[in-house]
Amino acid sequence: MYFESQLLKSVPGITHGFGSKFDPVPTSVLKSWVDARPTWNQVAGIEIATIIRKGQICGDVDGFFTTTKNPIGVKAADCVPILLAKKDGSKVAALHAGWRGTKLKFVDKFSHFLEAQAEKMSDWVAAIGPAVGGCCYEVSEDLVNDFVATFPEMDADMISPTYRKLDLQAVNACELTRLGIGALDIIAECTYCSMDKVKGPMFHSFRREGAGTRQWSVIGRI
Ligand SMILES: [Zn+2]
Repeated sequence: MYFESQLLKSVPGITHGFGSKFDPVPTSVLKSWVDARPTWNQVAGIEIATIIRKGQICGDVDGFFTTTKNPIGVKAADCVPILLAKKDGSKVAALHAGWRGTKLKFVDKFSHFLEAQAEKMSDWVAAIGPAVGGCCYEVSEDLVNDFVATFPEMDADMISPTYRKLDLQAVNACELTRLGIGALDIIAECTYCSMDKVKGPMFHSFRREGAGTRQWSVIGRI
């Protein structure tokens, strides 16, 4: 079981998938991922590696960009995976935005990264993958207040739908919209509470299981 964005599926020459507990690497991208995946350390920062070769070693990064046919992806278990593609399918990107990356405005950094290459956000589309939802992501009151102060243009009730809960998917969606993304899709699944009726929890969740288990969100040109 893995999840796809109908929006990304409409982009020509692209394959992608958001993994689950049952298929941590989406089967749609498994072969190319095993053959050519980069190596990196996710550090909850906002650095972006440009992939130019198969099996590239990238160091400490939380985002990827490529015009090559090597697949790129991020691993997450509650944090927000964001997969992006240029509408013509010529370029793709992947970002890992937990609360740290979101508060550091990773999406805004990505828009500057594109601008530096004479790219426009309006020529790109994005899909926000499964993440711990505003239903379940309880944090400190101070962290909620930090987010409200960091994003003063956003509705505080959207950032924090109920007391001490934080909705990271909504904050990233709002940022992508503000920055003029061409189109946006959200996979409305919560890594903490989404359940399969027979198999139980559908996702690895850091909050539920602790460290060490993850699912991958992968995108690549074909
Ligand atoms: Zn939930």
